[in-house]
Amino acid sequence: MICGFCGYTFDEKDGKQGCGGCSGGCHSIHCPRCNYKNPLEPELVKKIRRIFKKNDSDKGDAE
Ligand SMILES: [Zn+2]
Ligand SMILES: [Zn+2]
Repeated sequence: MICGFCGYTFDEKDGKQGCGGCSGGCHSIHCPRCNYKNPLEPELVKKIRRIFKKNDSDKGDAE
């Protein structure tokens, strides 16, 4: 995922999850670089994104 604050790209697993410092429990992933609280992407959003990516493949996406 990409940090919404500093733009740093990191794996969800590398981010700090459940930091214990967020009120009401931590349900976000903190950026390992700037500690910004990135909202967790629901599995459904990922699936939708994957579908869009598939449709986009003919545009020559650089990935
Ligand atoms: Zn937190
Ligand atoms: Zn960051």
